[in-house]
Amino acid sequence: MEQKKFMAKENFYEVIQEIREIVKDPENLRCTCPNTFCEWYGKCRECVAQHRYFGKHLPVCLQPILKDKINALAETAELYTDAKERSTIEDWQYVSERDNLNKQNGDNK
Ligand code: SF4
Repeated sequence: MEQKKFMAKENFYEVIQEIREIVKDPENLRCTCPNTFCEWYGKCRECVAQHRYFGKHLPVCLQPILKDKINALAETAELYTDAKERSTIEDWQYVSERDNLNKQNGDNK
C-alpha cells in the first residue's frame, strides 16, 4: 500500500521557514504558566518530562489547545467543565522551607 504524501515538499519547506521565524521571537518562547513560582517554570524540557511521566495533565501552556475543544464537546452532552485548582505560592513556600530543613539536616534529596 502506497503511503499517503504528507504535503508537497515546497509546502513543507514553507511551513518549516514559518516555524523558524516563530521560534526566533522571544515572545513565542516565553512560558505562559501562571505558576511563576514553580520550580520548573520556563524549564520546558523538565516540565514536559514530568507531565509525560505522570500522564495526568498537560503543561499549562498546552492546555488552551484542548480546552475550547473539550468545552464545545461537553456542551453537546449538556455537561459542564470546571478548572482544577492549581498549586499556590504557599505550596511552593512550603517546599522551600522543607528544602532548607533538609539542607540543615544534611539531607540533600
Ligand atoms: S512546557 Fe512548561 S515550562 Fe515550558 S512553557 Fe509550557 S508550562 Fe512553561
